[in-house]
Amino acid sequence: MRREKQAWQGRREGAYQERTCPTENAARRSFFARRTLPTLLVEALNAAAETMNRAGRFTPALRSYALLVLAAIVFAPAAGGSTAGASGSGTEDDIQELLDRRAAAVMAGDLDSFMETIARDSEHFVRRQRRLFKRMQGVPLASYRLVARTDRLGDLVTEGLRSRYRGADDVAIPVTEERYRLAGFDVAEAIEDMFYTFVQREGEWLIAEDSDLEDLTFYSGRHLWDYSRVDARRAGRFLLLEPACRGCPQAPSAAVRLATQALRRVRGYWDAPWSKRVPIVIPTSADDLQRMLKVTFELDNFVAFAYSSVDRSDGIDYTGHRILLNPDAFTDRSSSSTLRVLTHELLHVATRSASGPFVPTFLEEGIAEYVGQDADPAALSFFHEEAAAGTFDGRLPEDFRFVIGSGRDVFRSYQKAYSAATFFVDRWGLRKLVQFYRRLGAVEVAPGTAGYHVDRALRRTVGVRLDQFEQSWAGSIDNS
Ligand SMILES: [Zn+2]
Repeated sequence: MRREKQAWQGRREGAYQERTCPTENAARRSFFARRTLPTLLVEALNAAAETMNRAGRFTPALRSYALLVLAAIVFAPAAGGSTAGASGSGTEDDIQELLDRRAAAVMAGDLDSFMETIARDSEHFVRRQRRLFKRMQGVPLASYRLVARTDRLGDLVTEGLRSRYRGADDVAIPVTEERYRLAGFDVAEAIEDMFYTFVQREGEWLIAEDSDLEDLTFYSGRHLWDYSRVDARRAGRFLLLEPACRGCPQAPSAAVRLATQALRRVRGYWDAPWSKRVPIVIPTSADDLQRMLKVTFELDNFVAFAYSSVDRSDGIDYTGHRILLNPDAFTDRSSSSTLRVLTHELLHVATRSASGPFVPTFLEEGIAEYVGQDADPAALSFFHEEAAAGTFDGRLPEDFRFVIGSGRDVFRSYQKAYSAATFFVDRWGLRKLVQFYRRLGAVEVAPGTAGYHVDRALRRTVGVRLDQFEQSWAGSIDNS
């Protein structure tokens, strides 16, 4: 894991050097600096020194998405080195027109029109796009659109890529937002960043690739339908999206019954409003799941993920909630275990509309475990055994400790979070815990560190500071 991290960081630094060339345009730099400031504030202050490590949590996609945006913001000023491509408004209009045609073709089921938006530079890409289109026809889409956003990161094309498409009159890579809604499930649009390479030949723009910037860690979004045909089955409040391929993993047979039961349990704990309609996705493999989530840590320790996209159009909103099951971890799991996992993930989904960038992972996982385990104190036996053995350090776990380390280390962090949530509820009641979460989650874009906001929300809700809370909780363990 550490080696992988270093390699990743090395790539980032390399990319930064490559893009910080002497030709960069100072005015454009300051333009981007201003435009990205609110986002940078939230991410930089919240992430602080743990930029890499907070790449994930048990709802890791959310964090990794934030991380990718942060990386993009770091590089964005240097993108001013390129003044061609998507910087001209005529070009922007032409690219948007192409994207509108592509999106309309998806919704109309018009394969020919869709393929007319694809350049023929890569036979592999052309084949992949044809397959993708056919598979998308099996996805219950209520809406689908593509929006080129040059205002977010500028034009990301590099000189190296320009030379790769030497025959083209122009090349541009603005970030493209794929915005779609699953019928009957998504209240707001789910959003994935796509990094399409647009090439212009004889006045016409086409899409030539979507993976040219992966070396710079700009990954285009991937869905189940990128890997397989999709079986979409609606059952009660759930939409099961399973791969329709021979030998591919399937949802546990009792998945819908258990998810319905899990939903009832969540409602008993979390009474704030949320949509209560959730797609459950079974990926084709753990590798594909990792790519869909865009995370670099090992998935072995995790059985399921709550995934949301981030809409920054108006503050910070989490949208497109899905539960993704790790297919490797779901075989031979007992019903009671599956119920606990689904309840835990559903609680994450339920809290998304109340969450914000300053909610720490120990709170997210603490409340999810508390509800997932149905407040059963017996589920804390590992933690109490460790405490009895004298290894408890009395500290609330930092965000990165939920994904980095051995399975035992990660589990310890979950147990600590669960224990802290239990302590909170025992002392002040569940209603106060929900109130604390909602108060903290309501802070979207604001100055101040994460610690400051947690402290403030805690003081306002129950009248103690974070360090006092930590000490009281740790003291209660020592005395038990
Ligand atoms: Zn979780």
